[in-house]
Amino acid sequence: MHELGIVFSAIDTLEEVGREGSLSSISSVTLELGEVSGVVDSYLLDCWRWAADRSDLLRGSELLIKAAPAVSVCDACGRTYPTVEHGRVCPYCQSADTELLTGRQIEILEVVAT
Ligand SMILES: [Zn+2]
Repeated sequence: MHELGIVFSAIDTLEEVGREGSLSSISSVTLELGEVSGVVDSYLLDCWRWAADRSDLLRGSELLIKAAPAVSVCDACGRTYPTVEHGRVCPYCQSADTELLTGRQIEILEVVAT
């Protein structure tokens, strides 16, 4: 289960941040989730609820998800375009010589301590 692994790794990071910053509890965490990260929001939230409530630092905390659009760049014409809409083929020159620039990220954006 992909989502649970993500949650465990985020919680590890947050507990480290909490120790370094001497935080006693966190009320909300904002996670940036790329459009093509393959993560299902509702699973992620379920996993969060289960795992966060087992952490002293994160008990009762809320997970907020901010979706980040996926963007690809075309190596043939150098333009960028939205990945989800056009897939692997450049909408400007129809080249398939494209790569994903951003959209797979799973990053902690913001942490609110109480
Ligand atoms: Zn192109």
